[in-house]
Amino acid sequence: KISHRVTNINGGGSDGWDVFLKARGMIAEGVAVTELTIGEHDIRTAAPILQEMHRSAMGGHTGYAMVPGINTLRDTVAARVQARTGVPTTRDNVIITPGGQAALFAAHSVACDPGDTALYIDPYYATYPGTIRAVSAVPQSVPAHADNAFQPRAADIAQAAEQGAKSLLVNSPNNPTGVVYSRETLDGIAQVCKAHDLWLISDEVYDTQVWTGDHLSPRALPGMADRTLVVGSMSKSHAMTGSRCGWIVGPQDVIANLVNLATNTTYGVPGYIQDAANFALNQGPQVEAEVSEPFRRRREKAMAVLAKQNTISLVPAQGAMYLMLDIRATGLSGDDFANDLLDTHHIAVMPGESFGQAAAGHIRVAMTIDDDRFIAALETLCDFAAG
Ligand code: PLP
Repeated sequence: KISHRVTNINGGGSDGWDVFLKARGMIAEGVAVTELTIGEHDIRTAAPILQEMHRSAMGGHTGYAMVPGINTLRDTVAARVQARTGVPTTRDNVIITPGGQAALFAAHSVACDPGDTALYIDPYYATYPGTIRAVSAVPQSVPAHADNAFQPRAADIAQAAEQGAKSLLVNSPNNPTGVVYSRETLDGIAQVCKAHDLWLISDEVYDTQVWTGDHLSPRALPGMADRTLVVGSMSKSHAMTGSRCGWIVGPQDVIANLVNLATNTTYGVPGYIQDAANFALNQGPQVEAEVSEPFRRRREKAMAVLAKQNTISLVPAQGAMYLMLDIRATGLSGDDFANDLLDTHHIAVMPGESFGQAAAGHIRVAMTIDDDRFIAALETLCDFAAG
């Protein structure tokens, strides 16, 4: 019999990928579908990063790597986080993980025992509740409402925490909404975490993709470094989704325990991937800006298209690769809108309902195809919405 822990990862419900899978099925049958569903860049990892990977592998870095990560990369990540937060950070505060997703799993593993409640914000990145169930904790969502520009309210988090919770997972810049949490939001979150003794798991995988406002890591807030686990990744910042390289930055005793967990689970990340990641991070912000530029540009163009119609409204994306469009004026649910749009116009978007109840009546559009096709698809989508 397969364990309940694993068979229950989707909590008995759908995992929200129905429209995506339908689109993939249509593509397999030869239908030309415009894919605006997932957060995968339309560029590949830059050649110099691949050359460094090759150089490292040819130089012999193909054996077991240090489980906590190679020291050069840990030092680079530590320096980067210290520069952004002002909090003293050394390699002992850093573990390298096989991507941000593995980091989320590891962070919940150290924060929660079986049966503990783990809070997360709705709308949420699709894997969050499953990741929490995968460590036998109990996911409980806290809504961040569209009418509050998808910024979570401290009072709502406090109300959920009062029933007893061990951790809170937040994500800014946010997938799926594109919202960057304000200083006020983060101060409120920090206060609740301190008052209710919560671990704060801060998913910052989009921290290099900020279009308006400033990204602030809660690790920087007073009294928060000891209870915050920052999740980072090379996936979005350097178009390295397939290389599976991320990290957790947190208190030293947490990292030491995570090293023990990794020794008994992943056994680390390939040395040549880590060498390439270290090389990439040391190329400086210009390289990161180049990777992000297409999303910033498409967002600008999309805002101009959306300004010309009045059926769809939105909370303007401040970061990440997505637009969360409010289609409630059409009278359709996000699910129905996405299914009808796919059937009639062969354009695939994610229903807001895939990301929780707070995004019902919305659709998420990933800005991950070339500008011309993206804008043409958005114009068609707007016409479809107008009826
Ligand atoms: N967190 C968020 C919010 C994401 O959108 C993603 C990927 O789309 C991840 C984490 C996982 O990223 P990775 O495991 O590739 O680092």
